[in-house]
Amino acid sequence: MKLILLGPPGAGKGTQAKLIEEAKGCVQLSTGDMLRAAVAAGTEIGQRADVIMARGELVPDEIVVSIISDRIDEPDCANGFILDGFPRNVAQAEALDKMLQSKGMQLDAVVELGVDDKILVSRIEKRAAETDGGPRADDNVEALKRRLEVYHKQTAPLIGYYSDKGILKTVDGMAEIDVVSREIATVLETEGTRGIP
Ligand code: AMP
Repeated sequence: MKLILLGPPGAGKGTQAKLIEEAKGCVQLSTGDMLRAAVAAGTEIGQRADVIMARGELVPDEIVVSIISDRIDEPDCANGFILDGFPRNVAQAEALDKMLQSKGMQLDAVVELGVDDKILVSRIEKRAAETDGGPRADDNVEALKRRLEVYHKQTAPLIGYYSDKGILKTVDGMAEIDVVSREIATVLETEGTRGIP
């Protein structure tokens, strides 16, 4: 299964991606995690991304598109993958369409986790307080505000983009984790989703 999890920062994409990974055996591909690993390793990409991420802005499209393209070619993605945090704007979505086409692949579904902005702020504050080894550089109220603005302006248009393609599924992301997870499983079994085994 090839899936996109779409939703604002703190919507639970990472949590749900891990649950789908366990249930379906497809790999979670989080551009945020990959970029944070690059920052921690001090690679050239990491050095470019570091300041941008701390501000809550998007790193350049060509960086994330090439990271994802290389990652999808790894053997563990043969069973399918869950894109978590990618694409983040229409240009990335178009690049993904081209990339998948050139690899002879197609998306099965896009699952949108719908969450209220006020709930997101309190979730991120909680995550910042609970994270081992200190909070993420971008888990603070100012960066979060910027990330939410960026989400509404640049990422939310993807809802229409994938709805037009007939593969968008929307789930209430404000429910408990296991309720959301069951709802995702249900929508992935319903009609309109391409080729779910
Ligand atoms: P995330 O862990 O998905 O919330 O991502 C954390 C940060 O990494 C974002 O605020 C961006 O700065 C950067 N990032 C992650 N994914 C992307 C992407 N697809 N395009 C551009 N920037 C990204």
